[in-house]
Amino acid sequence: MWIDTGVFLFAGTYGDTLDRLRTHYANRAYLGPKVDREVRGFARDAPAVDAPEDEHARYQAATAAINALLLGPTALQVQRLTDHELPLIEPIKQQLAAMSNTNAKKSHGGEAELIVLASRAANDRPDRRNVLLTNDAAASVVAGRRHLPSRHGGDMLAELACSDASLDCDSCWARFQAGHAISGIPTNARQRGRDDFTCRRTEGECQDCAVTGD
Ligand SMILES: [Zn+2]
Repeated sequence: MWIDTGVFLFAGTYGDTLDRLRTHYANRAYLGPKVDREVRGFARDAPAVDAPEDEHARYQAATAAINALLLGPTALQVQRLTDHELPLIEPIKQQLAAMSNTNAKKSHGGEAELIVLASRAANDRPDRRNVLLTNDAAASVVAGRRHLPSRHGGDMLAELACSDASLDCDSCWARFQAGHAISGIPTNARQRGRDDFTCRRTEGECQDCAVTGD
């Protein structure tokens, strides 16, 4: 599971989601150096008191994400790129930029690194699922072309709900809305309401349960 900056912020809007994420994906959640820098960058300077609400929300989410996931002995592992892999980043960044009509200023470096790292991991260990956890539609498409499946923050919440019956769908929908407000999920892929966080296992087949395994 390779986690993008947007998903760290998405999960950071609700402290308990971060703890659940760490527990659920224990020992199989990773990030890249650029994502690590980006999340820490969002927490570096507190916004001015009169700054827009979303700046405050982003700052608080990044701070919570760092405290829960990027510090101390239980911190998620930052995976490094080899010298060999560095030249692979730029062409992927260009593909991502070409596909993104919104947010033109975004560098896409974080997603490009994750795609390279996840591709390597998938080659090394084909028996494991290397899923890109990103809210960025372009990153999902580019990852898909490399046979890397992707999920977004809402899918992650659905997965957490499947794995823990104490996490009810109303709570998930509240978490989704808080996270979506600072890291938006593409319109055609997002959950629509509380019912989308209800496990379908009892009806025979549940898509979100299906991806929970390693
Ligand atoms: Zn389920």
